[in-house]
Amino acid sequence: MTSTQARHTRRAVLQAAVDAGARCANADPDHWFRADDEPDADWQTRRTTAQRLCAGCPVRAACEELALRNGDGEPDTDELVRAGYTGPELAAIRTHQEQRLAAAVAADQDTDGRQLRDLTVLVQTEVISSTDKRQDGSRRSLTRVQTEQNQLVQMLTARIDEIRSARRARAGWGVAA
Ligand code: SF4
Repeated sequence: MTSTQARHTRRAVLQAAVDAGARCANADPDHWFRADDEPDADWQTRRTTAQRLCAGCPVRAACEELALRNGDGEPDTDELVRAGYTGPELAAIRTHQEQRLAAAVAADQDTDGRQLRDLTVLVQTEVISSTDKRQDGSRRSLTRVQTEQNQLVQMLTARIDEIRSARRARAGWGVAA
């Protein structure tokens, strides 16, 4: 995956949202984790405070999805708070939403699909902008501008066909499918 593709994954978008708006960003991060040998009563008090902060956090939804994707929280270990949930609560949500999470992670890994969408948008943009480019005839001949644009669209279209063929072949449909 290239750095450009990575920036377009949902995970990267979620992380950017949390980095930009986390209410805990300027707080002591240890406040969201139980200390070693911390008595139950002390942790419960701190845990409640952390959950209250999370309740008013503007990026709570993104934080929750990241925590679920990261596998944060275990069914029988109450030692952290993420997105307002305890570890056992996160584990229960992850189990409940297993299929949705798997689909989201798979979508992030579909780099071909993302590339196809980006290339298709580029082709559409080139075709739509053809009128403007033709009006640039004062500096270059209309024929030359048109030729350059045709070459670019042909190149993009060829790349789209190449990716589609490779996907079909991998899926067992063969090049002609
Ligand atoms: S929801 Fe809670 S843990 Fe998540 S970013 Fe906000 S304050 Fe931090």
